[in-house]
Amino acid sequence: MKIGVLALQGAFREHKQAFLRLGAEVTEVRLPSHLKGLQGVIIPGGESTTMAKLMSAYGLDTALGDFYAAGGALWGTCAGAIAVSVEIVGYPEQPRLNLLDISVERNAYGRQVASFEADLQIEGLKRPFHAIFIRAPRIARIGPGIRVISRFAADPVMVTQGRLMATVFHPELSGDDRVHRYFLEKVVSKSLTQRF
Ligand code: GLN
Repeated sequence: MKIGVLALQGAFREHKQAFLRLGAEVTEVRLPSHLKGLQGVIIPGGESTTMAKLMSAYGLDTALGDFYAAGGALWGTCAGAIAVSVEIVGYPEQPRLNLLDISVERNAYGRQVASFEADLQIEGLKRPFHAIFIRAPRIARIGPGIRVISRFAADPVMVTQGRLMATVFHPELSGDDRVHRYFLEKVVSKSLTQRF
């Protein structure tokens, strides 16, 4: 499989390593032309406003929308989950791809618990996944087409909608590639690769 890791800002190197360990071919995406021939792209964690500015400066906002429309799969994690969402609560002007039918609240887990770890039950995985949350957004609303793959307390923390996936934790920091494998097997497998 050919996977792109958006490499403008943030935690992209660890994602690249995880996909390489799973046997995928990995491209660092910095320009729209780098999307050619890919089946799936991950938008990593980082700082969502900075990332949005860089995406628009390089034309990657439009290009990623086109990539999805042409049959590609997208996974946004943490700041990336904010980027793929349709609504950022309290930040109506913040640019986003407007694809995944969720509303997110930035930095919603409060100051004291801004970063924390939790063992999650993830649909399809036998053992719990040790998840690291870093100033994570909270998924405050999910649309009817959203499938919840994992929750922390009552909140969805891993969701899919067809060829889209979002996680609000950082699976690349756990030394456990099962969430990356989930993306390849369950989400990228639905991509229509021949189209671009
Ligand atoms: N708090 C960050 C934001 O809003 C996201 C944090 C992360 O990606 N780890 O942009």
